[in-house]
Amino acid sequence: MASMHHSLTLLIIDDDVVSISALSALFSESFNVEIARDGKTALQCVMLQDIDLVISAVETPVISGLELCTFIKNSKLTSHIPIVFLSEKYSDDEQEECLSVGAADYIDKNTRPSILTLRIKNLMTMVAQHKKLAQVSCTDGLTGLANRMQLDTILSQEWYSAIRGSHSMAVLIIDIDHFKLFNDAFGHLEGDKCLKAIATLIADSKRRERDFAARYGGEEFVLLLPFTDLRGAKSVAQDLLNRVRQQKIPAAASASHPIVTVSIGIASFTATSKKGINSSTELLDFADTKLFEAKESGRNQYCA
Ligand code: GH3
Ligand code: MG
Ligand code: MG
Repeated sequence: MASMHHSLTLLIIDDDVVSISALSALFSESFNVEIARDGKTALQCVMLQDIDLVISAVETPVISGLELCTFIKNSKLTSHIPIVFLSEKYSDDEQEECLSVGAADYIDKNTRPSILTLRIKNLMTMVAQHKKLAQVSCTDGLTGLANRMQLDTILSQEWYSAIRGSHSMAVLIIDIDHFKLFNDAFGHLEGDKCLKAIATLIADSKRRERDFAARYGGEEFVLLLPFTDLRGAKSVAQDLLNRVRQQKIPAAASASHPIVTVSIGIASFTATSKKGINSSTELLDFADTKLFEAKESGRNQYCA
């Protein structure tokens, strides 16, 4: 059981040194353990780090455990984190109060350590399952890239971030050329292999941490490049065109090129010069128009 959860992080909030070391001893073999001695430090920790579960004293300095729990449960970014209260003055009234602000559990501090450990581990198992499910629901099964649903979420986030921060952003729609002919000539299994190979090249085109690649539809992909202007986007597109050509994947005899190629539509904007683009959807639509132009102009090229 020990190694099963070691990628999960437990935050312990308590101002009592003895309690902290006892709890750390119980859990540091199974989880990454973070410590906060007061509510304010705990809040910063929850906002900035990837915390999976919180064990908190009911009474904590600066911000009380109850206030902290209320905040965590009401914030969209943190509401999924289970909070377990460890009480020094166990009572039904206090229990009711803790559960009513969203605590996952309320446990007497004098509970046998083995029981506390089991309760926390059982909760962490649910957290791990939930994380796995969340990950699967955002991922395209064939290519391992993000799926359309996740693209919509990230695209909208990045759009608002670019507007707020007045920075540029570019979107590339990448479509495999004559892919229907490829499937017809070599079969769907080979088609799937080709899709995976192209998806890998697209994922490798990411240059910055916030660059984001997704499978948009059947043989269409999107590359989202925050903080990137038209010049940068063109350079990424040209790079990708070259890398796809270098794979030299044989194309169907009836296709326009002897090897598999892609066409790319680019849309970019800066917050100060949006050129009539008013939403992330319009940005994607614009890239799609440019993709159509690239197809019309003979494929195996980008249009911006
Ligand atoms: P164009 O150059 O104009 O883009 O032509 P195209 O044939 O690539 O475009 P079209 O939209 O006519 O066909 C897309 C093809 O992609 C049809 C479909 O069989 C194939 N496809 C979509 N999803 C998958 C998939 O998951 N696996 C495989 N093997 N093929 C797929
Ligand atoms: Mg297509
Ligand atoms: Mg196509």
